[in-house]
Amino acid sequence: MKKQFAVIGLGRFGGSICKSLVEEGMEVLAIDENEEKVNEFASLATQAVIADTTDEKALRGLGIRNFDHVIVAIGDNIQASILTTLMLVEMNVKHITVKAQNDYHEKVLNRLGADEIVHPERDIGIRIAHSVVSKNVLDY
Ligand code: ATP
Repeated sequence: MKKQFAVIGLGRFGGSICKSLVEEGMEVLAIDENEEKVNEFASLATQAVIADTTDEKALRGLGIRNFDHVIVAIGDNIQASILTTLMLVEMNVKHITVKAQNDYHEKVLNRLGADEIVHPERDIGIRIAHSVVSKNVLDY
């Protein structure tokens, strides 16, 4: 059976994860509270729904606990990201990946029990710096 993914937050980060998972042939439920974002992903994702994931009833109603892997890609609204993650942990979702906005956010997510925490802006910055340095070393 195909692995079932859910992506919460369809900004640049969540949106690109959603697209890539679909391209890899995965089943993806795309979730955002913003109707325009959901419409954008309606034809791409397996299913796209409008929901505020800080609303426990709404989250449970999506059957989120049955998904193999949930990715929380809410960035700016740290409170919403934390609350959503807390409820996913409480629902015993198998694997939870969360985008952290800063080090404090990351610390809280760790405490909550998120399985994987990503920090894309920071990580890509580090990677680019390494690549620039190694290119410069080769140039000398
Ligand atoms: P990115 O950096 O990935 O481009 P962004 O800056 O566009 O993200 P963010 O504030 O990080 O936007 O939020 C990402 C998405 O998460 C947005 O599309 C927003 O509507 C959605 N979102 C925020 N809060 C919630 C929530 N409580 N429930 C569902 N979706 C939410």
